[in-house]
Amino acid sequence: MKWTKSLIQTLRDNPQDAEIDSHKLLVRAGIIRKLAGGLYTFMPLGMRTLKKIQRIVREEMDAAGALEIVSPILQPAELWQTTGRWDAMGANMFRLRDRGEHEFALGPTAEEVFTSLAKGVISSYRQLPVTIYQMQWKFRDETRPRFGLMRSKEFLMKDAYSFDADAEGADRSYWTMYHAYERIFARCGLKATPVQADGGDMGDSMTHEFHALADAGEDGIACCPACGYAANLERAERRLGERCDAECPPAEAVATPNARTIDEVAAFFGLPASAFVKTLVYVADGKPVVICVPGDREVNDVKVKRFLGAKTVALADARTVEEVTGAPVGFAGPVGLARADVPVYAEMSLKGARGAVAGANRADTHLKNVDLARDAKISGFADLVTCGAGDACPQCGKPMELKRGIEVGQVFKLGTKYTDAFRATYKNDRLEEKIMIMGCYGVGVSRTLQAVVEQSHDANGIIWPASIAPYQVVVENLDPEKPEVTSVADALEAALEAKGIDVIVDDRVERPGVKFKDADLIGFPVRVVVGAKGLANGGVEIKRRDEDKSATRIVAPEAAVEEIGKVLA
Ligand code: ATP
Ligand code: MG
Repeated sequence: MKWTKSLIQTLRDNPQDAEIDSHKLLVRAGIIRKLAGGLYTFMPLGMRTLKKIQRIVREEMDAAGALEIVSPILQPAELWQTTGRWDAMGANMFRLRDRGEHEFALGPTAEEVFTSLAKGVISSYRQLPVTIYQMQWKFRDETRPRFGLMRSKEFLMKDAYSFDADAEGADRSYWTMYHAYERIFARCGLKATPVQADGGDMGDSMTHEFHALADAGEDGIACCPACGYAANLERAERRLGERCDAECPPAEAVATPNARTIDEVAAFFGLPASAFVKTLVYVADGKPVVICVPGDREVNDVKVKRFLGAKTVALADARTVEEVTGAPVGFAGPVGLARADVPVYAEMSLKGARGAVAGANRADTHLKNVDLARDAKISGFADLVTCGAGDACPQCGKPMELKRGIEVGQVFKLGTKYTDAFRATYKNDRLEEKIMIMGCYGVGVSRTLQAVVEQSHDANGIIWPASIAPYQVVVENLDPEKPEVTSVADALEAALEAKGIDVIVDDRVERPGVKFKDADLIGFPVRVVVGAKGLANGGVEIKRRDEDKSATRIVAPEAAVEEIGKVLA
């Protein structure tokens, strides 16, 4: 391929809406081009990389025994109504009507489509287990589309769905996909860490997310460097020691004028924030609940939701807080709430807390010497806070670290949530009708492309792993108007292509500096420089994108193909 025929357009300036490096670089390198917010066109270079990633995903899915199909993007509303998700998906789903006023969704995922498909085609245990997958564009009306391909409105997802006769089979299908995912990301040159994750609406069911660790990641991950435990902060647990607070005198009200926030109250009492019982009123599925956590900790809404088994959980508004506590916002505490019927749940680490300070449910007043067990009616203790750096690993007790991650894939044991809704059954060997057990598995194909760039770039541009680079080699023809140089460059192109190596020849009449800059920006793994001066001095220059100039090898043109092969290996 010749550069002058390849519609490559690089940009000098960063796009204004780009906040993270990978987004800036993908646009500047001409890999993608913005159509509108959250919508991108893959340009020829981007298309080549996307296809290479797709190919890796397909090869690994096929090797794992999964069957590829493709199902419509346009999905009838009735399918979603069967599982109740037509309402549950809310504003995240794009909806439209045909001319007959029938409602449709632009598929944000395809559990309903695949479950109804399985119901239609599977009838006997002899057809099980089976995993079906597709690579299809998905649509989500994200609250905040941003970061380029990372969180877009339209994105390419590989979604797979497994159907099994029993729990052991479902377990095998799950781990087969898990291992396939490990191979997919490794082959894409991405370091992706599997982490335990929250099951969302599926409650406590088993799920792992694969995260490309990167500062730009939107998710917090707790990792244990000692034993390898890794979990999304929505799920991560910590090990707690036994709490043995000394007994304390009776609780006592203290006037705390103008002290509402934990910091203000801490300053007033001269105590660390951890000595406070932070008390928050939530509304879960329409009903108020009170949540208590140590003053130096943040309530984790996802954990609260999971613990309560609620569909929706949010902080209560001021009126509800006043009604539940009997005091203005800022003075809530577990002792003496106005509404004695509202359940109070406390964080595990508050079990045995004595001598604590809490709001007194009275304006400008706090209680000191609170003994939680003695003074408050706690309906239950649970893990309700977000882990922090240094918390003890739940597996080995060593201190954990916090990292950021980009979710590039997720594997999920769904159980019978969808197959129950559709009554997707099979007949076992005794001709009894049984519900199929399901798993679902997603790879964000377009997000993966960008995650690679986020993990692999420098100040000059992208550094593509050879496996997914738009071209593995760029040949810089420095003197395209000189036939003796062009013939060497073109011969090299032909020889590399004959060996199955993708190559682009930069045949532009441009200053070398401009050409090198573009090559670095786009990030071809290997650069070969062919110029009149070099040829007169003994050969062509070969350098890997991730090496510095001093590593340049100079070889005779005849030896170049072999040397490039070595450099790429
Ligand atoms: P997130 O938590 O980032 O919103 P999700 O958990 O809702 O993602 P899944 O339903 O698990 O996403 O979809 C499977 C994969 O699709 C994700 O692991 C992610 O890689 C990708 N993906 C999800 N939403 C987007 C998006 N808006 N843009 C690009 N890729 C996405
Ligand atoms: Mg997910």
